[in-house]
Amino acid sequence: MEGTKRDANILITGTPGTGKTTLSELVASSTGLRHINVTDLVKEKSLHEGKDEEFDSYILDEDKVCDELEDTMTSGGNVVDFHTCDFFPERWFDLVVVLRADNSILYPRLVSRSYKDNKIQENMECEIMQVVLDEARESYKQEIVVELTNNTVEEMESNASRIQQWLASWRSNQQQQ
Ligand code: ADP
Ligand code: MN
Repeated sequence: MEGTKRDANILITGTPGTGKTTLSELVASSTGLRHINVTDLVKEKSLHEGKDEEFDSYILDEDKVCDELEDTMTSGGNVVDFHTCDFFPERWFDLVVVLRADNSILYPRLVSRSYKDNKIQENMECEIMQVVLDEARESYKQEIVVELTNNTVEEMESNASRIQQWLASWRSNQQQQ
């Protein structure tokens, strides 16, 4: 490795509505890792170039996001929650979790957020075409990318415990080095 002794950084990504924020909060509260909701951070710190009115979403300033997060990521111990993943430095993450949800599950979650029809459509297509999964596989080493189904509360709990187990084993491997 690089000789770094930082704690793990985990990325939880996936189409909007797949449950990233809910799962990230659960993982953070059970592990002591810091939850970073990048969507909120972009709004709070204006890490964007204005709004795309058609899709009612911010146009990301990727360099600003990376600059803002660099020190925190270098010190480790973060759960990063965001719907895209191809612009983060690869070295930041030790585990990349891609959440998936079935169409019949995702659709009502998006509707209940009162997204506009075109935004719902865009996100449904994104999930059907597994855009985020492909992006994750292109951006990170195969062996750190894990695809997890997150349709139900039971699945979410099992996903949280899988991540906890991964972290425990990652931490004990670090200590042995
Ligand atoms: P994201 O951050 O990926 O956009 P959220 O965590 O905000 O998704 O979840 C979207 C909605 O779906 C919320 O209302 C949340 O309570 C619900 N939800 C998330 N994960 C699950 C799950 N595994 N089972 C049932 N409902 C879920
Ligand atoms: Mn979210």
